[in-house]
Amino acid sequence: MVAADPDLKCVVCYARISFDGRVKDAHGIEDQHRDMTDAARRFGWLVVYRYTDNDKSASKEGVVRDDFEQLISDLATGTTPEGYPIHGVMAVNDDRLYRRPSDWERYLKAFTSHEGRVYHDSNGVQDLYAEGFEIKGLVGVAMSLSETRKKQRRSRNSHRSRAVRGQAVAAWRPFGWEDDKVTLRSEEAEAIRQAVEDVIAGASISEITRRWKEAEFITSRGNPFQYQTVKQVLMNARLCGYREIKGEIVRDGDDQPIVGEWKSIITPKQWFAVTAKIRERGGGTGMPRGGLVHKYLLTGILRCGNVLEDGTTCNNKMIGIKANDWLKYQHAYMCKKTVDGGCNKTYKRGDKTDEIIEKLVIAKLEKDAASKAQDVPDWDKTEALERAIKSRNELERRWHDDEDTDIDDETFFRNLPVLERRIKELRADEAKHEALKAEAESAQEDIAKAWKSKTITQKRDAIKKVLSAVVAVPGGKGNKTFDPDLLKPVWRSSGE
Ligand SMILES: [Zn+2]
Repeated sequence: MVAADPDLKCVVCYARISFDGRVKDAHGIEDQHRDMTDAARRFGWLVVYRYTDNDKSASKEGVVRDDFEQLISDLATGTTPEGYPIHGVMAVNDDRLYRRPSDWERYLKAFTSHEGRVYHDSNGVQDLYAEGFEIKGLVGVAMSLSETRKKQRRSRNSHRSRAVRGQAVAAWRPFGWEDDKVTLRSEEAEAIRQAVEDVIAGASISEITRRWKEAEFITSRGNPFQYQTVKQVLMNARLCGYREIKGEIVRDGDDQPIVGEWKSIITPKQWFAVTAKIRERGGGTGMPRGGLVHKYLLTGILRCGNVLEDGTTCNNKMIGIKANDWLKYQHAYMCKKTVDGGCNKTYKRGDKTDEIIEKLVIAKLEKDAASKAQDVPDWDKTEALERAIKSRNELERRWHDDEDTDIDDETFFRNLPVLERRIKELRADEAKHEALKAEAESAQEDIAKAWKSKTITQKRDAIKKVLSAVVAVPGGKGNKTFDPDLLKPVWRSSGE
């Protein structure tokens, strides 16, 4: 038949039944195979092999499903034990095939090792080669896994620990829960609940931290609470039952948050309110702003002015280095070694270089301040901000209002980020404007004095605002005195 019809699809069927002692599998082996054969006939496919695992759970660790293993290896080689080609796989439902992510991955890999295969289950014919299917499958697996675990947990003798069964146990219980990570540790849970209410009402994280320290709570890792750890506890979506992976709420296909099987401490509404409050107050992430912190004032600002043999200027960004011990100064700037793309010809002692550039910049800032227009207009988006806040509050109010059925969780969570972003942008704009105004107002202040109290990062920012670079021309061989004229500032075009 195969030889006669090159387009004929030879498919294999996989059936599995599990008797785990509690739930009688509704779908018997014969039923499964009959359903699949019927479906194959509808598609004009030829069933060339039937794989069957009896009494095997696909979710338990350590259970070997012989025929599943056979299927994986046959998919990889491309033929059934009898030598028929495998053009496709059928199962009554995908949970017959896999319930663990590792099985799903192995199956997908074996399946897609040959091109043009078809797959059919209760969801119809599906394209397992399609991009994103891998993820979709994994989410499905994760959900069915949590479902299975839930069942297992319910039926399990509560005192029998996971460790006895040799299962991997995550290292730490979350603060607020018992070691099973499901039931609440009442005094901790109560402390969290209280803290959430208080933070929503205006208490600071520092206050909560102090309180928890006084009450001698310790983190589940056995450490005293710090600001950051308290913040982490309070912002964890687990508190309201939501699953979270790397700061993202895990959602199902309908974009609804997936709810875990553990007991929750607060409601989603409370969780939302407390995180919003903390974010709002923290003015962001609570992490240090900006990326790299430079140790030396002019790293990357100084450029090598050495003229190369071909007549061009090196122009590489110079790096800051710690000066040799026997020198009177602490640091220096140099053009990188040739292996790193520099010419390694320019070297400047750090203290003098910094001093000269700082003087130049201060002089420039003073000049700018004197000529700066005093009149900064008032911020013109106050109304827009008020409107946005009003919209958000209205959305929240309607969400809280049980009688308002227009705003379900889905609508709320879809619309909220848009409004939040708008408010955040407007607030940032306002802050920027205020800063501008303040800057103009303090223009007459003693710039040189203010400069001294700046950190290196602040100084670098200020320098980069007025200078696009400083070209450092090498001073030639020998231990010559420092020549400030060999530093050539490149001012930014003053378009202001
Ligand atoms: Zn150079």
